[in-house]
Amino acid sequence: MNLLVTGGAGFIGSNFVHYMLNKYPEYKIVNYDLLTYAGNLENLKDIQENPQYVFIKGDIRNYQLVDYIVKFHHIDVIVNFAAESHVDRSISDPNIFVKTNVLGTQVLLDVAKANNIQKYVQISTDEVYGSLGDTGYFTEETPLAPNSPYSASKASADLLVRAYRETYGLNVNITRCSNNYGPYHFPEKLIPLIITNALEGKELPIYGDGQHIRDWLHVEDHCTAIDLVIHKGKPGEVYNIGGHNERTNDEIVHLIVEKLGVSKSLIKYVSDRPGHDRRYAIDPTKIMTELGWKPQYTFDKGIEETIQWYINNKDWWKRIKSGEYMAYYQKQYGER
Ligand code: NAD
Repeated sequence: MNLLVTGGAGFIGSNFVHYMLNKYPEYKIVNYDLLTYAGNLENLKDIQENPQYVFIKGDIRNYQLVDYIVKFHHIDVIVNFAAESHVDRSISDPNIFVKTNVLGTQVLLDVAKANNIQKYVQISTDEVYGSLGDTGYFTEETPLAPNSPYSASKASADLLVRAYRETYGLNVNITRCSNNYGPYHFPEKLIPLIITNALEGKELPIYGDGQHIRDWLHVEDHCTAIDLVIHKGKPGEVYNIGGHNERTNDEIVHLIVEKLGVSKSLIKYVSDRPGHDRRYAIDPTKIMTELGWKPQYTFDKGIEETIQWYINNKDWWKRIKSGEYMAYYQKQYGER
């Protein structure tokens, strides 16, 4: 099988490329990524000599280039990870979120249609469902009710994917996963931000009262789910992915503080994010029963390994934190 993975230099995409090359050494993986601030080829340096792996720098909005790549590499399946992915950035500048996440998806769908691609898989998010109260779960039937410009752009992309199925009969799947954590996670997101700040003895910012709940899944469990959807997903279906692991942000930060043995006095509650969704929780029954997916990681094992990865890979995140990201961070949280 020849796979076009877009956004393969980001957090989940690079984990997915590693996972697939390891599991299917005979597959060809073409990684197409614009290398924005979030794309990092260092994530893939151990596989750059692999003859089954090709990297091409480019924008998913560039129809001609994507079309050329699909033809040249005889692509069978497109998996679209490419996106602007950070909610806070979408609040300060929604424009690029619409351009990349909505228009980019439409271009990829057009290329898929023009080339009679076997399957198109859209990597979406549980955030498209909006916020839950204290009880209940998101199912695939939950109405879309996005609250941030990020989730609105992802929901819009999902609707286009659905429309290409209904209108043109394109073989598509949409996956909606809960929050991921694991290696190569960019240090602007909660878990790597807290681990790396703690390792540097810096303040540990928590939004609002810290009682916002996220449903955490190890990135490798997300990869096994996408693998199943590629090979067994039924045409046109949406699959929610989550491991029933709800935690408040407060719990996450306190757990990391405890595991790293740093002082609780580093924790600082900062003004809440506007429109901050209170609770996300996934009902994964469909993918578990129809495709036989089951997460392998417990949160305790996953977080221990992740903390250890950040301890072992200080050069990786220090390079990121000292660059462009620093200017953004100072704008977001003030000088620290
Ligand atoms: P990320 O920000 O780490 O990576 C995104 C990648 O897309 C980067 O490598 C970037 O260079 C690339 N990119 C951005 N604009 C591009 C463009 N115009 N053309 C080509 N490449 C472009 O994101 P992530 O956390 O790895 O998320 C990947 C996907 O999974 C996203 O679609 C996101 O919405 C979805 N998702 C993420 C999570 C999570 O917890 N991180 C959970 C559910 C779903």
